[in-house]
Amino acid sequence: MARLTQAQLNRLGKTFEERTPQDLIRWAAETFGDRLGAISAMQQSGSIVCHMISTLKLNVPILFVDTGVMFQETLDTRDRIASEYGLEVRTLAPEMTMTEQTEKLGVLYLSVEGQQQCCHMRKVEPLLREKGNYDALIGSLRRADGGRRGDCPILMIDLEMNCVRINPLANFTDEQLEAYIAENPVIVNPLHFQGYSTIGCNRCTTPVMPGEPKRAGRWRHLGPWSSYCGINPSDVDDGTSVSIELPQDLVDRILGVKTDFMI
Ligand code: SF4
Repeated sequence: MARLTQAQLNRLGKTFEERTPQDLIRWAAETFGDRLGAISAMQQSGSIVCHMISTLKLNVPILFVDTGVMFQETLDTRDRIASEYGLEVRTLAPEMTMTEQTEKLGVLYLSVEGQQQCCHMRKVEPLLREKGNYDALIGSLRRADGGRRGDCPILMIDLEMNCVRINPLANFTDEQLEAYIAENPVIVNPLHFQGYSTIGCNRCTTPVMPGEPKRAGRWRHLGPWSSYCGINPSDVDDGTSVSIELPQDLVDRILGVKTDFMI
């Protein structure tokens, strides 16, 4: 095994800044092969990534974390993406139903500390159970969404999952997103047409009023300090996390290094 550091990925990521999202997805598929997955919450940027994977005819499974309290519109979007794009969507679920969790621990999402515990059990842990199955996960974070996403890297190590996170839409502007949806048959979660700028669990997501920040509808009842669930490492890390361990030949492939073992 070999170490892959965030500093190495930062250097490589800088050379990727001018590449199109499709180029980056193709690079990911060529580099990681069947150890590549994508993760989508079935919001519009995730739907764009799914559409791109489908049109590139890549066999990349889509991971979807169903917390058990998702909007029906989100579940319908997941099902349409599987059937109409011909993609394999793998639904991940928490160990306890929300009813079981509430009976055992109370209504967690009503306090800041409880929200973190609830998001960890219902969003982060289901993904962590997939650890070891993927060397890289494609996400759909965009810098244009602002907040902690404002400077999200194209390439990032995920310490907990021991894999690389790839954000091919990091540079996608709001205008590019709208144009892509207008020009392609993207399956858009209908909640986006009802004032929801970002979409999570039905317990913790509300529409956004004109002039409010995009993420104002997430955990509105808790105030502006709890605006992320922690499933994306760039939302919780400062971008300087040290390193992950991957096979040497894969690290060489990622970094474009040709290793010659002949002496
Ligand atoms: S968004 Fe709310 S309901 Fe969903 S996992 Fe997080 S705290 Fe729990």
